[in-house]
Amino acid sequence: MRQVIKDLDIIPTEEEKALCDLPRISEEQDTGKKRKLYIESYGCQMNFSDSEIVTSILFDHGFDTTSKPETADVIFLNTCSIRENAEQKVRNKLKQFIQLKKKNPELVVGVLGCMAERLKSKLLEEEKIVDMVVGPDAYRELPALIAVADEGEKAVNVFLSKEETYADINPVRLGGNGVTAFISIMRGCDNMCSFCVVPFTRGRERSRDAHSIVREAKELYENGYREVTLLGQNVDSYKWQSEDGSEKINFAQLLERVALVNPNLWVRFSTSHPKDITDEVLYTIAKYDNICNYIHLPAQSGNSRILALMNRTYDREWYMDRVNAIRRIIPDCALSSDMITGFCSETEEEHQDTISLMKTVNYHYAYMFAYSERPNTPAAKKLVDDVPEEVKSRRLTEIIELQSATSLELNEKEVGTIHKVLIDGVSKKSDAFLKGRNGQNTTVVFPAGTHKVGEFVHVRVQSATQGTLIGEVIV
Ligand code: SAM
Ligand code: SF4
Repeated sequence: MRQVIKDLDIIPTEEEKALCDLPRISEEQDTGKKRKLYIESYGCQMNFSDSEIVTSILFDHGFDTTSKPETADVIFLNTCSIRENAEQKVRNKLKQFIQLKKKNPELVVGVLGCMAERLKSKLLEEEKIVDMVVGPDAYRELPALIAVADEGEKAVNVFLSKEETYADINPVRLGGNGVTAFISIMRGCDNMCSFCVVPFTRGRERSRDAHSIVREAKELYENGYREVTLLGQNVDSYKWQSEDGSEKINFAQLLERVALVNPNLWVRFSTSHPKDITDEVLYTIAKYDNICNYIHLPAQSGNSRILALMNRTYDREWYMDRVNAIRRIIPDCALSSDMITGFCSETEEEHQDTISLMKTVNYHYAYMFAYSERPNTPAAKKLVDDVPEEVKSRRLTEIIELQSATSLELNEKEVGTIHKVLIDGVSKKSDAFLKGRNGQNTTVVFPAGTHKVGEFVHVRVQSATQGTLIGEVIV
């Protein structure tokens, strides 16, 4: 029994999958269309959500999807540029398609997303197998660009828009479980964190029409979905107004509208920026039972000098003020963070400040990275990447070990308590177990009994590991 549960423990949640850089692959879908699209997506949830928009556009232009690149007419890699190794993975993947292209010279290979935007037509020179390079705001042009590639020409569109939100496109849900879905509520980012490539690859921040977001949430609920995650690089700065200016909606108001779609629809959101998260948002979360008590609030560092160099526009005191407000207004709210080790000129004492912040906040989870300099970012232009790689990775190991111990300790405290869980899948290791997440975003595993994916159940926790609560259903 113990052994089975240990195996179950390694199933990553959606968020872990995204941040572990595990690509997502399109599923087999045959509705009798003429051509097949294989799309593989890397990086963050925004990219996964974009791939669903891409699939929807091509679905209307004669494409079904396939899970096997060898049966595809068009292969797209939807890419991430956030760290150097993310780009390297894509380059390695492209090499694997060389044989396929030799066998089928008609095959079209396209690179989409952040890497396409960052490298533009240079990518065509560097990777000869690539026929199309398309940035994140040009997906409506894909059918026309494929037509160019079909003629044997190279096709590039990396135009960044100030308006495009794909509000009217109904995403085709890819590789999903039919229960949880992402909804993009905004695109781009106007913050200029000095380490980050996103403002250059995804353009200016723009918020999507609130009515189209609520409509999408309603449709998902009617189609059996029971959880939506509202996505943006900085959801707290969501700001939409109607064309005549009569209607203005901020993030707290949007959250409320989505929560009101149905009390049986769980609402999550990501990512919150510490400089922008307001008490109004926190009170809205506290007011509605179906807005999950979980906030991803990346700190990046626990030291105020480093935060200033990162241009995060808050300091440690501000960050702790926001954490204290969360604790006061939503007492059982789980928090997670992103942390970067070895940013330019970070000293050992400053690294210790990150450790002390992590100990003070007691995050349920953290996504932790060694700093990777990205070409043309403000940090690459103005600061020196002077922390040796071995020091960055030693500091990274230290915070990973600390986080592992904290996650285990927090999970062990839950033994004996009861959690409401939305069942989102069958355990990969054993059909006899189901899995889901509680409101705080912790994975919960339990014997399946007669329960089904998509149901809410209450689970009494019997044991815990670092990543999982294990228990049995009580109602
Ligand atoms: N918008 C989110 C925010 O501000 O918190 C983060 C988006 S970014 C896609 C995800 C995470 O990648 C960041 O929070 C940061 O920790 C990490 N990251 C970004 N650029 C990085 C870099 N150059 N080196 C290492 N980690 C980086
Ligand atoms: Fe990058 Fe900062 Fe924008 Fe997040 S808020 S996407 S880290 S620039």
